[in-house]
Amino acid sequence: MGALVDGFGRVHTDLRVSLTDKCNLRCTYCMPAEGLEWTPSAELLTDDELVRIVTVAVRDLGITSVRLTGGEPLLRRGLVDIVRRLAELEPRPRLAMTTNGIGLARLAGALADAGLDRVNVSLDTLRDDRFLTLARRDRLSDVLAGLDAADAAGLSPVKVNAVLMRGVNDDEALDLLEFSLQRGLAMRFIEQMPLDAQHGWKRENMVTADEIQQQLSERYSLTPVDGRGSSPAEEFLVDGGPATVGIIGSVTRPFCGSCDRVRLTADGQVRNCLFAREESDLRDPVRAGASDVEIATRFRAAIAAKLPGHGIDDPSFLQPDRPMSAIGG
Ligand code: SAM
Repeated sequence: MGALVDGFGRVHTDLRVSLTDKCNLRCTYCMPAEGLEWTPSAELLTDDELVRIVTVAVRDLGITSVRLTGGEPLLRRGLVDIVRRLAELEPRPRLAMTTNGIGLARLAGALADAGLDRVNVSLDTLRDDRFLTLARRDRLSDVLAGLDAADAAGLSPVKVNAVLMRGVNDDEALDLLEFSLQRGLAMRFIEQMPLDAQHGWKRENMVTADEIQQQLSERYSLTPVDGRGSSPAEEFLVDGGPATVGIIGSVTRPFCGSCDRVRLTADGQVRNCLFAREESDLRDPVRAGASDVEIATRFRAAIAAKLPGHGIDDPSFLQPDRPMSAIGG
């Protein structure tokens, strides 16, 4: 029925699906200590509704890669079954998950057996006390156990995502990279974005891609890898390779021009950009009996309306109403 092409010719093949807006951490840069008002379960897509929408996206709209996220996707009941059903789709999409790793030690094997291909695990610090301050939960050992389990289950290459914050963990870039190199994990550093529920993001506090690259270069030689394609990460060979490190400069080195990503929130809204201020509802049409053709048409219209860029540098920029945890990072 045709690909998801926007008005600038960008073809969208990567669908990020949020399975829940709930999380078992309370990272300071993401949500307040008391958590957020979670979406009532009646408003969330059921497993069947979710699989139906993804089926249309994969079969009819050219989506080739599906990433499960949240909130914390491991909190979704029925996760293994959802993965199994998505892995049965034709053509078979690549299946990845972004997770904080808590609970992965128990689930990694079952997820791999069900068809999950890869995971990205978020890890901002290797220090117990800092983890507690930053994520407001004492769970570093669970994350590390999850990383080991992911590797053992073959969910590789296992990527590790870190957000560096000034005066909080920005002295850990080298330690995190060394940790990843020793374990054969692919480290990626992400610039902090204005997507926190508290609206506390300040540009001057953000540790920039330039700073990160500079810090890493103090110990390692970084050689840019050619052929980035639509990847958000700029990849560098570390000391000539084969190990690599990625830097995702969403704010200072935007990559909107090659964006191929679209998001489906846990309550069934299509978002054509992380920073979009408008969403297109698929849940109510699905519940009202919409045909696959209607779902595909709404999906395509949502992409057609995509803006050229996220506009963070624009004086008129307004942070989206939904925080990252409710969009699906
Ligand atoms: N709970 C899962 C996890 O921890 O990976 C998936 C959802 S979480 C929102 C996805 C990623 O977004 C995490 O790596 C997290 O660090 C990152 N993140 C959250 N808020 C962010 C922000 N304001 N700027 C940049 N990254 C952010």
